[in-house]
Amino acid sequence: MDKENAPCPMPHAQCPMPHAQCPMPNAQCPIIKTMMFIDPHIHMCSRTTYDYLVMREYGIVAVIEPAFWLGQPRTNSGSFKDYFSSLVGWERFRASQFGIQHYCTIGLNPKEANNEALATEVMELLPLYACKEGVVAIGEIGYDDMTEAEDKYFCQQLALAKELDMLVLIHTPHRNKKAGASKSMDRCIEYGLDPSQVVIDHNNEETVEEVLERGFWAAFTIYPQTKMGNARMVEVVRKYGQDRIIVDSSADWGISDPLAVPKTAQLMLDRGIPEEHVRAVCYENALAAYSQTGQMKASDWLNPQSVDQRQMFNGNSVLRGQEPGIKSVSDFVLIE
Ligand SMILES: [Zn+2]
Repeated sequence: MDKENAPCPMPHAQCPMPHAQCPMPNAQCPIIKTMMFIDPHIHMCSRTTYDYLVMREYGIVAVIEPAFWLGQPRTNSGSFKDYFSSLVGWERFRASQFGIQHYCTIGLNPKEANNEALATEVMELLPLYACKEGVVAIGEIGYDDMTEAEDKYFCQQLALAKELDMLVLIHTPHRNKKAGASKSMDRCIEYGLDPSQVVIDHNNEETVEEVLERGFWAAFTIYPQTKMGNARMVEVVRKYGQDRIIVDSSADWGISDPLAVPKTAQLMLDRGIPEEHVRAVCYENALAAYSQTGQMKASDWLNPQSVDQRQMFNGNSVLRGQEPGIKSVSDFVLIE
């Protein structure tokens, strides 16, 4: 390896060079390898264990999995019950076995709020799950088509959040995004929630100004082709700075990327965004917002319990008959 391509021997904290001027190829850059990330919006039940391994290698220490739509409408409230149980149970356990802390939000998504018979039953389940360990908010709730039924169950869930003194994660609609975001914020205020307790997600250049001006947290979903690209995200951070801006992947069963947060961080550094701003929008702000619940704290991953993949959850481990100890993607080089 020639000198220019050799990994820097210096610990990052002692490195005098801003990342943008660093001559080192990205894959070898010591900065990315030493940063910690939180992905505060990702649907891990649609992702594989391999994703957990790669995410951990890229520095993702914690994830938040919002309750949402599964791609196919549910036909009875029992499906919701099992889904909520897996978010607070199996999925949390599965993540922990690969060194990632898992939190979730509980809520009735706007799309399925339109099935009123079902929605009424799901509303009865919510208080049973909202107070379980690792639940950091009511969400993701809000509007899809902005129908009357969506509005009704959105308001009922805001009232529940207020009653339980919980945070709220808002899903803004893909169509009529600006109007949907404005109306969602109006409703939050109407139901007595403080903007500091509400994360508005799926923002874009059209909505960010109002969200920040009104004092809410502004989350951005880096999702290929539809929501927000990471090159655009770099410019949003350049323009609006680091305060109350949060980057997430919203990776799910669609064409999406569970590494969207670290990759966006890398692009920000490459394009001259100061490292402390990158750290804020890809780690610190999500922690500041969601730690208000007392359910999520940095010590969860800074002082982790040691991982033992033989551990069981309801009688099952993550091993599928394998030997424990898969910690890294490189452990898969040889498959026997
Ligand atoms: Zn989502």
